[in-house]
Amino acid sequence: MDPITADNRRIDGRAVQRDFPILQRPLANGRRVVYLDSAASAQKPQTVIDRQREVAETFFANAYRGRYDFGDRVGEELENTREAVRLLIGAEAPEEIIFTSGTTMAINLVANAWGRKFLGAGDEVLVTELEHHANIVPWQQIAKERHAVVRWIPVTDDGQLDLSEPDRLFNDRTRIVAVTAMSNVTGTITPLDEIARLAHDAGALVLVDAAQIVPHGPVNVRDFDFLAFSGHKLYGPTGVGVLYGRRSLLEVMDPFLCGGHMIEQVFRDHSTWAQLPAKFEAGTLPIIEAIALRSAIDYVTSLGFDAIAQHEHELTEYAHTQLPEIPGLTLYGPGPDRKGSIVSFTIDGLHPEDLATQLDRHGVFTRHGHHCAMPLHERLGVAATTRASFAVYNIREDVDALVEAIGAARKRFRIA
Ligand code: PMP
Repeated sequence: MDPITADNRRIDGRAVQRDFPILQRPLANGRRVVYLDSAASAQKPQTVIDRQREVAETFFANAYRGRYDFGDRVGEELENTREAVRLLIGAEAPEEIIFTSGTTMAINLVANAWGRKFLGAGDEVLVTELEHHANIVPWQQIAKERHAVVRWIPVTDDGQLDLSEPDRLFNDRTRIVAVTAMSNVTGTITPLDEIARLAHDAGALVLVDAAQIVPHGPVNVRDFDFLAFSGHKLYGPTGVGVLYGRRSLLEVMDPFLCGGHMIEQVFRDHSTWAQLPAKFEAGTLPIIEAIALRSAIDYVTSLGFDAIAQHEHELTEYAHTQLPEIPGLTLYGPGPDRKGSIVSFTIDGLHPEDLATQLDRHGVFTRHGHHCAMPLHERLGVAATTRASFAVYNIREDVDALVEAIGAARKRFRIA
């Protein structure tokens, strides 16, 4: 059956599940998998799995090296993925799409290749209290080296960015604003248009961490200078991700990693750099993974982002009606209309690790801990939360299974 039902607008989660072989296999205890950890990494549809195998079996070679059949084909297919990414995020030119190993490397690339050259003493890097460590630590490191300062956009009690006093945040020392499009803890969707306007008015650049948003809705880089995401959260392979950079910026930045492929000429005392995007793609790319990333993009675009957003929104709304019924449960972050498909919560008297272990016995896979967002947890006043995240293959029964398993855990731990 087609995963999109007759009116071509809605997603049938059960039909989508059939595209994901890992979700078909019962667990050792006979239960079905209730996978609620797609924010950490999404499962892979058969088309992506098949494509990786097809590359390895039929035309694998290193890229941009051999002038022979396989080498040419690999080069062509990589450029096909680059073009698919360009269209996905609305970039102007394929040279603005850099393959990286993921979001983490993409942000490190900007912090190092742009930050080392363009940050000076007293300059300010603005991050937010919502950020994943991948969009904090690289900035701390480069700021230390360049004697620059990392400043923070605060978060309200319900997990939204507090932009009520922009003059205290944005000033003529602000050089870059590094902000997530969607929190990996609270699911908060950030007001990127407003942030881009404030940043650009202050003469600063904007880097968007799009790791969480890209699987769930359309993204357009028009108003941003850099944008990063990972293939593995977009139903694609691990080991491949993307940095978008505005061409005029990438051109004046120095390389980040140095070695093969990124040079034009190497002399004994210096080297010159290849044209974009090769300048930032040193060494051998994750060839199989990058080619198969296109199949993941094809998969989500064939479902349609409107349909995906609608499906996941319904699941999130449903979770927001069911979870608060559980005594002692606190949900963090804003309501479903201001967030993506993530719910993070704590339950009085139940440690998140104990809860996760119990949920696992019911086949309900969640994640617990600080989710690589310690400053946000500190702001929310908790050391750890339990997170359930929904994707295209989740169904209402998954939310029911979560609620039921939490009930069983409360009983087991004799929580009144
Ligand atoms: N940013 C956000 C918002 C994330 O959720 C993650 C992954 N948890 C990352 C960055 C890092 O992504 P990766 O590990 O794929 O580099």
